[in-house]
Amino acid sequence: MDTENTINEPVTLLKDTTPSEWGLYSWKSKPIKHQPVYSDTEELSSVLKEIENAPKIVEIQDICDLQDNIRLCGLGDKMLIHLGDCAETFKDCNEVSIKNRFVLFNLCSLIINKILKKDVVKIGRIAGQYAKPRSSPVEVVNGVAMSSYFGDNINCFSPTKEGRVPNPEKLIKGYHWAVTTYHTIEKLMNYKTYEICRDVLEDQLREQTALDKDTPEYEDFINVIKECAEDLSDIEDLYVSHEGLLLDYESKLTKLCRYSEDESEKYFNTSTHFLWVGERTNKFDQAHVEYFRGIQNPIGIKVGPKSDPKDIVKSILTLNPENEMGRLTLILRLGAKNVKETLPPLIEEITNHKLNVVWVTDAVHGNTYVNDCKFKVRHFDTVLEELVSVYTILHKNNQIFGGIHLEVSGDNVTECLGGITKTCDDDLYTNYSTQCDPRLSFLQTLHLIYKFCIEVSK
Ligand code: PEP
Ligand code: MN
Repeated sequence: MDTENTINEPVTLLKDTTPSEWGLYSWKSKPIKHQPVYSDTEELSSVLKEIENAPKIVEIQDICDLQDNIRLCGLGDKMLIHLGDCAETFKDCNEVSIKNRFVLFNLCSLIINKILKKDVVKIGRIAGQYAKPRSSPVEVVNGVAMSSYFGDNINCFSPTKEGRVPNPEKLIKGYHWAVTTYHTIEKLMNYKTYEICRDVLEDQLREQTALDKDTPEYEDFINVIKECAEDLSDIEDLYVSHEGLLLDYESKLTKLCRYSEDESEKYFNTSTHFLWVGERTNKFDQAHVEYFRGIQNPIGIKVGPKSDPKDIVKSILTLNPENEMGRLTLILRLGAKNVKETLPPLIEEITNHKLNVVWVTDAVHGNTYVNDCKFKVRHFDTVLEELVSVYTILHKNNQIFGGIHLEVSGDNVTECLGGITKTCDDDLYTNYSTQCDPRLSFLQTLHLIYKFCIEVSK
């Protein structure tokens, strides 16, 4: 972790990325993907009007503080962890679920503090991570063709034709559940969290009777997490985020705000601190990148194994023309088996253009597969392999490893295989409760972060 910390100068825009004037709705003139189709457009308009008048969820100052913090991750002074559900659900907006996720994120941060001696910036995929892009707009369940599930703020998860029709009312519900979740997080941040943390950890360890005691690091791992739980006296901020997918919704919560006394007003998405553009919507000449380039929040862009580095550079130039370190996080989701081949050319393209990006690895999305019993799964070992491999290649190429992005649950779910819980195919029937992609369980997540820290500090 001794890569030289440098910041490059602003870049000159490439000719074909020099954008026309931005407006809150200029994205409407670009091609757009992955938006729900509502049959009742009048109801949609009235819902969006209501949302437009709703108060902001987060504070502008906190959004700006997060950008400063992410900048430090880009310089190697801190490390980012960006964790949470693939699809957050309304039913998990309850005291226990929020508390478990909150404790998990804090424990991950403390493990990194302890082993790597680094301060950590925490962002949750939480308080609004409701809308999902899907590979197919329709699916067949028990012989009945219906719309796919697009997330709790669009339609219902339960597979009925009627429930799967996009319902504008759900957007309002999503706003309110996001507010409730964020208030609960704020309360937890003001609490004496030490006791909560110890209790949650004890419950999780008690529930897990079949931990892999033969694994050589077992005792050290348990000691480390218990010590971390005892350490949890001073809680630092947890920032919130979601994929900025539904542009009608996001635009209504995007407001002109003054963020320091001597600055003019600028547009902020006031529903969350951080937003990312998904892998399916990251094209430089399409609607999502157009919307994102006009907001002041720190943003992320997902990069897959098939993304052309030249196109990614165009998106980066469009999104961060001032080349500010901390504004743009590249969230790599390459798949463990593709890292060696696809990461070096991307690094080369980015460094040739002297672009300041924060390199973060999403080590889950490229490692998903469907097993023989039709469960969508990921294996702990493959996720760890991707984390370490991205770390190593960035390091070799004099780039800073900025952080880790994972889909995790605060509960004892059985959705990913392997790790300290020895979860195997048969265990998936016990508690496979995700509504979209498989999440690492509470203890699998702690174990993964622990193993990553041990591997890279060797
Ligand atoms: C996600 O983060 O849940 C997601 C859909 O990822 P990606 O855009 O990388 O496929
Ligand atoms: Mn996902």
